[in-house]
Amino acid sequence: MMRITIIGGGASGTLLAINLIRNSGGEPIEVNMIESRQNTGRGVAYSTGHDRHLLNVPAGKMSAFPDEPGHFFEWLKAKGHNFNESDFVPRKLYGDYLSELLHETAENHGAFAKFNLIADEAVDIIPDRTTAEVVLRSGNRIASDRVVLAFGNAAPPHPSVPDLSFTSSPKYVRDVWNASAYGNITPDDNVLIIGTGLSMIDTAIRLHSAGHRGSIMAISTRGMLPQVHELGHTYPDLTSELAGLTRITDMLKTVRRHIRLADSNGGNWRGVIDSLRPVTQQLWRQLPDAEKRYFMQHLSRYWNSARHRMPPAAADTIAGMIDRGELRITKGRLKEIRESEGRFTIYVSLLGRMESIHADAILNCIAAEANFARHESTLVQNLIAAGVIRCDGLALGLDALPNGAIIGKTGERSQVIFTLGTALKGILWETTAIPEIRMQAGRLATELLSQTTAQ
Ligand SMILES: Cc1cc2nc3c(=O)[nH]c(=O)nc-3n(C[C@H](O)[C@H](O)[C@H](O)COP(=O)(O)OP(=O)(O)OC[C@H]3O[C@@H](n4cnc5c(N)ncnc54)[C@H](O)[C@@H]3O)c2cc1C
Repeated sequence: MMRITIIGGGASGTLLAINLIRNSGGEPIEVNMIESRQNTGRGVAYSTGHDRHLLNVPAGKMSAFPDEPGHFFEWLKAKGHNFNESDFVPRKLYGDYLSELLHETAENHGAFAKFNLIADEAVDIIPDRTTAEVVLRSGNRIASDRVVLAFGNAAPPHPSVPDLSFTSSPKYVRDVWNASAYGNITPDDNVLIIGTGLSMIDTAIRLHSAGHRGSIMAISTRGMLPQVHELGHTYPDLTSELAGLTRITDMLKTVRRHIRLADSNGGNWRGVIDSLRPVTQQLWRQLPDAEKRYFMQHLSRYWNSARHRMPPAAADTIAGMIDRGELRITKGRLKEIRESEGRFTIYVSLLGRMESIHADAILNCIAAEANFARHESTLVQNLIAAGVIRCDGLALGLDALPNGAIIGKTGERSQVIFTLGTALKGILWETTAIPEIRMQAGRLATELLSQTTAQ
């Protein structure tokens, strides 16, 4: 019997487990899922219990299965929710959907698929050529034929300032998704949010719904907010024009030309950007590393703002907060943060001028740490030290083949250890959201199951 151990029970691990169990075709299989959080299927994104933390993808595009596009929407209807397919629904519902689907699938296929959910933390993997042993914090070990690293989003780095002693303050919140961390923030606190992306949007909305009265300032080097979704814009496939281009500036020129064309024909840039989604991985892979670095340094913030858009309801709340002076978005570079007697003084370079800002609380909405060498996870550190995993050439994720097979320090591909989702960012770029993760989960399950039959 094939024993597959999945480390991480967020959306990636859950979708993989569901596909493995559903598609095992009656072959006996054991799927062990190790998750250190309380709930499976939720991970960082879908653990929020807040009603106004919405999916940033419409419900009609969030099915667990690419070949059953209405699956999530039908589930919502069956649960009595009165949404349209184009609605951006609360993320907690998606967590409910995935965890229910996993448990239902495990129950229905229990005759041949043994599913074990293990509430523990994986701290090491000891591989040999054809199997591996996964070591848990509790001291237990799980013998495995295949191991899948589905450990998703790491904690964000601290702000890049020389003295980090302020981080020990209870009014510095590193994990903004941990609702209990807000217990230290009072409604009259002046709050500085570091970051102006989607996490900042959710954090500002959480403060707003809690009746926050103090000022809120959000800062990032470009001060750019995510763009707003507007559904219904489509654009023809540009693949043939972009195929073979190996310079990012040539790609950019082509895309800009089409955006102008879309505009002049009554269309919209969103249609052009969305038309690139199915081929983004292919375009990324055809670029040399130097071009990818150029993109990261000069263009990625613009791409992220256009590609990772916020739902209109979130945009309305944020616009209202800005109009009423409750939220200020600032472009600046943090230079130093000091804490004294419970207050922070933040030194910022604003358009080349040094200024100091005072805040009672600091909320970290910097994106998750991408560089695995800096991850604080015991598992990641042990695997890097043993050479089982290594960072990809851009340090955006792990080195791996596009199918997820891990490449370790020797440069050899592992036959036993695989990954999916965020860890493949350097290899695929477009790999962190459900539409891509569900494809990867389906394909990886098929590949692992074909190895079962070959054994
Ligand atoms: C706030 C937020 C909102 C998002 N909204 C959307 C959206 O609306 N639509 C969309 O398509 N995408 C969205 N995303 C993208 C999101 O990353 C993916 O949709 C998806 O949730 C990623 O899941 P994951 O399992 O890869 O990672 P995670 O959600 O990070 O889950 C990984 C899990 O692994 C566990 N884990 C890690 N290491 C270990 C270990 N050593 N031992 C045991 N357990 C371990 C963690 O506890 C965690 O639960 C959002 C992301 C964020 C952060």
